[in-house]
Amino acid sequence: MAQDPKRPPDGADSVVAARLALLETIAREIRWTGVGDGSRELDPKVRDAIAKVPRERFVPPDLAAHAHDNRPLPIGHGQTISQPLIVAAMTHLLRLEPSSRVLEVGTGSGYQTAILAELAAEVVTVEMVEALAAEARARLEAMGYRNIAFRIGDGAAGCAEGAPFDAILVAAAARSIPAALLEQLRPGGRLVIPLGRDPLSQELVLVEKDAAGKSRERSLFPVAFVPLRGGRSAPPSAAP
Ligand code: SAH
Repeated sequence: MAQDPKRPPDGADSVVAARLALLETIAREIRWTGVGDGSRELDPKVRDAIAKVPRERFVPPDLAAHAHDNRPLPIGHGQTISQPLIVAAMTHLLRLEPSSRVLEVGTGSGYQTAILAELAAEVVTVEMVEALAAEARARLEAMGYRNIAFRIGDGAAGCAEGAPFDAILVAAAARSIPAALLEQLRPGGRLVIPLGRDPLSQELVLVEKDAAGKSRERSLFPVAFVPLRGGRSAPPSAAP
């Protein structure tokens, strides 16, 4: 039988133990504070995906020992791999089905992408930093994921040719919800996005679009993300 590339190599018991301990931490945090939608328990499907995806393969080798700490870590280019608790909560909030098609803005290391790809039929992920996109693609393809489409560019514009999406996850903080993303969300769909440019005063916002196409926004809890770059969601700058 071919070795499952997502399985840790033999002798990696400590990595598996660290991942289970991380899941315990996430479960405890969520029991205390909730996920923002009233539930106090992480969706078991999200839990299983976190248990399965080898987070240590998404961080720089010198930080592998910290891969299962519940905190963001630097991944180069001034960017970070998101905190596991936040990855868990954002994924939970999207209520993915096996048939879902998801748009992710901000591929980064590709860790959140892998979690989404475990739960959904298809993920389109957009990253602005070409080197990060290339690294994430090589990593995820080597791990055997075949349901991810990689795009390089300004994710605030979404991916018109892939729209509409059942769910959209934005992994960088915007000043306001980019109009293109709202347009590309299917009626009945859900979008999660950190709003606020100051990392000390951002909120995670959940947008639910009803069957009639009307959107309702809810601020859920404070978060700290790197900024969403590019011009489309920012107000036009003054001419010199
Ligand atoms: N979820 C990722 C972390 C994302 S950090 C992980 O767990 O690894 C946010 C990412 O968004 C960074 O890689 C950054 O380069 C990217 N980004 C910022 N602005 C963007 C934009 N306008 N379009 C696409 N990607 C963007």
